[in-house]
Amino acid sequence: MTDLPPPPVKGCREAPVLREFGQREVFCGLTGIIWLHRKMQDAFFLVVGSRTCAHLLQSAAGVMIFAEPRFGTALLEEKDLAGLADANAELDREVDRLLARRPDIRQLFLVGSCPSEVIKLDLERAAERLNTRHAPKVRVASYTGAGTDTTFTQGEDTCLAALVPELDKTDARELVLVGALPDVVEDQALALLNAMGIGPVRSLPARRLEDMPAIGPNTVFALTQPFLGETHGQLIRRGARHIAAPFPFGEEGTTRWLRAIADEFGVPDDLFEKVTAAPRARARKAVAAHAEDLRGKSIFFLPDSQLEPALARFLTRECGMTAVEVGTPFLHRGIMGPDLDLLAEGPVLSEGQDVDRQLDRVRAARPDLTVCGLGLANPLEAEGLTTKWAIELVFSPVHFYEQAGDLASLFARPLNRKRLLKLEAAE
Ligand code: SF4
Repeated sequence: MTDLPPPPVKGCREAPVLREFGQREVFCGLTGIIWLHRKMQDAFFLVVGSRTCAHLLQSAAGVMIFAEPRFGTALLEEKDLAGLADANAELDREVDRLLARRPDIRQLFLVGSCPSEVIKLDLERAAERLNTRHAPKVRVASYTGAGTDTTFTQGEDTCLAALVPELDKTDARELVLVGALPDVVEDQALALLNAMGIGPVRSLPARRLEDMPAIGPNTVFALTQPFLGETHGQLIRRGARHIAAPFPFGEEGTTRWLRAIADEFGVPDDLFEKVTAAPRARARKAVAAHAEDLRGKSIFFLPDSQLEPALARFLTRECGMTAVEVGTPFLHRGIMGPDLDLLAEGPVLSEGQDVDRQLDRVRAARPDLTVCGLGLANPLEAEGLTTKWAIELVFSPVHFYEQAGDLASLFARPLNRKRLLKLEAAE
């Protein structure tokens, strides 16, 4: 990998971290259902929540679903919340009705919410009870997406972490890719690994229940998303080993991520070069087309998705941006360490949220671009700042070589729009 830029003299792995414990301004973990239900094609996500939860799901989904939907809400009404009805009995009836109507469902997730937590509805026990009733045709599991416990990407983490203890045991040496990527993006990674002779490769989550990976002492796994801390812990408890690497964002991130896996499987350098040379060249060219708009610009990340350190690494090293502050809801050094090693010292690293104090720092720094949640973007735009919605970075396909240019363009677009508006105003 001699043609990759060297790591900085001093990275951010050991940099001091500003820890914030104030008010949070992020979506809850229910949001993850939007991408999880597309990935797991025989799963149904039943949110046990209120009308607010149902509304969030519908509006976050953005579009109506034309086929049979694969998520829904079991509404907790006032009598449930007041403890006047047996919510467990109602839930059982709801699930029976759903499964009788939908024989295509093989996995059912009971998804906890703020209201189900408030009335202390034990969804883990409910899942066990329902599992006994509906196995082996349907597997029932539970996880929480409650806003009191989770930020918007953590819903995927709690979902996958709930799956791990139920996965079969194996002694086979297998690679598991962990994280719900769009199928087309996942297929690109599988094709590259396959061309290097690496395999068998499995995915967590798999597209269908019968393809879920088995886990054991010879399993190695690579994360495709940095927000999977709990899943990472569960896999390690099952004896699997993590291949730590920078995340596959941009040409460098993808190359280093692939290289770490290739090293684990003893892939020779010349084969690695042969497989990666053409897509690397395409990725470099695609990133360069947008890097012109980004070079020399400053960026401030408010904490939202846990993608922030990896994206800051990509934007500073491949696009010439300067990071002012890199905020992340949780900073897991075992997972984010390789990206922090590559992120040159300088930016403030912050963990957690205290939104007022962070906004004060944004206003003081007046960065060229601020990455933040939807609720903060409009007020900041009204103050003349340019923003990027963090949620778009999770909803859009941004991993691996073929998406590297699109990733850079997601950051270039708001800056270009601002420039054009200024030109129009000047005419
Ligand atoms: S889980 Fe909580 S934060 Fe999320 S939509 Fe429901 S009530 Fe709101």
